[in-house]
Amino acid sequence: MAWDFETDPEFQEKLDWMQEFVRTEVEPLDLVIRNVWDVSDPVRNDLIKPLQAVVREKGLWACNLGPELGGAGFGQLKLALMNEILGRTVAGPVVFGSQAPDSGNAEILAHYGTEELKKRYLQPLLDNEIASAYSMTEPTGGSDPTNFKTRAVLDGDEWVITGEKWFTSHANLADFLIVLAVTDPDAEPHKNSSMFVVPSDTPGIEIVRGIAPWGHPDADATHCYVRYHDVRIPADHILGERGAGFAVAQTRLGGGRVHHAMRALGVAQKAYDMMVERSVSRQTKNGLLSTRQLIQEMIADSWIEIEQYRLLVLRTAWRIDRYQDYLKVRKDIAAVKAVMPIMLRNVVSRSIQVHGSIGISTEMNLGKWLIESYGLGLADGATEIHKLNLARELLKGAEPAPDVFPSEHLLRLRAAAEDKYGDKLAGISGEVAPGGAS
Ligand SMILES: Cc1cc2nc3c(=O)[nH]c(=O)nc-3n(C[C@H](O)[C@H](O)[C@H](O)COP(=O)(O)OP(=O)(O)OC[C@H]3O[C@@H](n4cnc5c(N)ncnc54)[C@H](O)[C@@H]3O)c2cc1C
Repeated sequence: MAWDFETDPEFQEKLDWMQEFVRTEVEPLDLVIRNVWDVSDPVRNDLIKPLQAVVREKGLWACNLGPELGGAGFGQLKLALMNEILGRTVAGPVVFGSQAPDSGNAEILAHYGTEELKKRYLQPLLDNEIASAYSMTEPTGGSDPTNFKTRAVLDGDEWVITGEKWFTSHANLADFLIVLAVTDPDAEPHKNSSMFVVPSDTPGIEIVRGIAPWGHPDADATHCYVRYHDVRIPADHILGERGAGFAVAQTRLGGGRVHHAMRALGVAQKAYDMMVERSVSRQTKNGLLSTRQLIQEMIADSWIEIEQYRLLVLRTAWRIDRYQDYLKVRKDIAAVKAVMPIMLRNVVSRSIQVHGSIGISTEMNLGKWLIESYGLGLADGATEIHKLNLARELLKGAEPAPDVFPSEHLLRLRAAAEDKYGDKLAGISGEVAPGGAS
């Protein structure tokens, strides 16, 4: 029997160590570092680098990556258990070398970069010495491939990129950007774009402004509106084949989506723990909040939703490990991605309600997480698109009914059952067969 819901004792020891380390060493960093992605901030580096060294020594550095990229290659299931712990903090993924968007960008570089590009960017990125950004969404057409306007034109031995991108996270902190641009406008939409490495110091890159999610501090205004004005890069800075930009994007997005999903579990669990604590702390008219049935319902509903979601995340992670092929796990990832913002929003909203006024204030993180839940319904593709993709996968191979009535039509089924058991039923006239509808 292969199903098993237990963690190996040996790996559980690592998780226990992580729990303690993240709680005591990493969580406080969220309150004192301006931006954990800013590798040029000396305060950030003084605080984070020693912790990164401890994680490396423990063999837990960049566990999302395989050994060929310096990671432990634990696989996605173990990573899910780790990421839930890291998701409780902002700094956690950076301290453990698995932060987005660098982790996905490193995978693209490793798969498709030239030796020269890898030498210049990959190792420093894996070492968290430099930062990167992923520039795909556009202000006019979101991330709909049929609407992209940013163009890259080959001019001699250089590509020239022109256009605008929207919400390029960390563009203002990055040493290089990975940019998707239309190279073959006459080709069909999913084969008309290519992916490029664009060094940040290339002339012509304009950061119009950084945008902060509602309720986040200005230090989080790192989702950038970027203009590319005739940005010239060497011809070999293309990643993958010309026209294969979307295929290359999938290398990064499949894993990235599921990693966000794992970390969202950590946030939801924290919001839930806070709700429980508040309910057993706060007195109301004749007792604690936790003694009120409507509060108990909020706690019970939240626990159920978190646990359902956790099982879906873990099963998806297990399937990725098992098939080693993101295409085979597409529908599972789409389902996880679609349910993630709803689960988080529900749990955080209830936690806010149980906290009362302090819950909506800037003295707690709950309002920030509520906006994050909406962000998770947009980043890496809007929920609606993932549901469409999921439905498309689910409908593949679906068979129509044999005639105008459904195949489960009871009259049809009863007739078939009577045919099958007619001989035995012959003596029981007038009675309905067991299980049949009357
Ligand atoms: C926190 C955060 C970080 C991000 N980081 C990056 C990044 O680093 N790089 C990057 O390139 N992008 C990034 N994005 C952008 C993200 O990819 C887009 O927000 C997302 O693709 C949606 O595009 P849009 O915001 O323009 O919304 P729109 O495309 O305008 O869509 C708005 C809404 O319309 C509906 N909709 C759109 N299309 C359809 C459809 N076909 N069917 C049904 N409904 C539809 C959906 O409800 C959708 O939410 C980030 C976004 C967030 C929130």
